Amino acid sequence: MSAPHFREIAPGTSVRRHSELELNIGLVVGSERALVIDTRSTTARGEDLAAAVRQVTPLEQVVVNTHAHYDHCFGNAAFRDSQIYAHVLAAESLQRTAEHQRSQVVEHLRRTDRPELAQTYLDTEVVLPFYLVEDTVTPIDLGDRTAYLLFGGRAHTDHDLVVAVPDVGVVFFGDLIEQGADPAMDDSFPLEWGATLTTLLEHPHVSGATSFVPGHGEVVDLAFVQAQQGVLSALAAELEGALAAGVSDVDGLVAKTRGLGLQDATLRDAAVRTLETRARDAGVDAAR
Ligand SMILES: [Zn+2]
Repeated sequence: MSAPHFREIAPGTSVRRHSELELNIGLVVGSERALVIDTRSTTARGEDLAAAVRQVTPLEQVVVNTHAHYDHCFGNAAFRDSQIYAHVLAAESLQRTAEHQRSQVVEHLRRTDRPELAQTYLDTEVVLPFYLVEDTVTPIDLGDRTAYLLFGGRAHTDHDLVVAVPDVGVVFFGDLIEQGADPAMDDSFPLEWGATLTTLLEHPHVSGATSFVPGHGEVVDLAFVQAQQGVLSALAAELEGALAAGVSDVDGLVAKTRGLGLQDATLRDAAVRTLETRARDAGVDAAR
């Protein structure tokens, strides 16, 4: 299989799509620096990515991890000479969960008879991002153009960054948007995800954009993003309604949220996360 190329979707703005999980990596090239969006899932894959970036531009690179899931940031070691940005909670999450994420992937690959690939995960050094973002808007100066890291609230995780490139109307959405599969709920905040998307779609650096790059799958248009925002908002409303009606178990919440076009496994993850988050938030309130 030949290595994928960066495909330009707007001037100086490219996407490289990978066979693993249909993962998208973004590249935004300015006159002085280039921004690489996510780093793939192992050091070896990160090195392959870094070589592909160098074929596009010799400029200094700045990197952002959209979030702390392994498929987006375990390639960081290949970019350790660059400034690696992430949300402050992404760095905390990666530090806390990296070994668990690694062991889960390794176990899965061994179980599915891919020991060589499993070894590349064991050979991977997890490098934490160290330019940590807490603001809702962080400009990244690329010379003649600026990209913006946006934090819109809790959604796919509690630390998702979106990258807006307003001069060409492109937004890299990380896993806040997913094409070809349901949004992944296992670390998510189902009651907040839809509202976070609404906030981001109304943001001045996003409104007017025409190309939206999901973390996985095909580049999509505004109508697709709005449809996913609608489903996630409807899911939140159904969950809120069920909780208000006294439903307090996973099966009950799944039964109340069918009919939105999401798979049962997705609804189950959403229900588990809703109950977990509610219990944790209640615990925090009680401790105040
Ligand atoms: Zn993810």
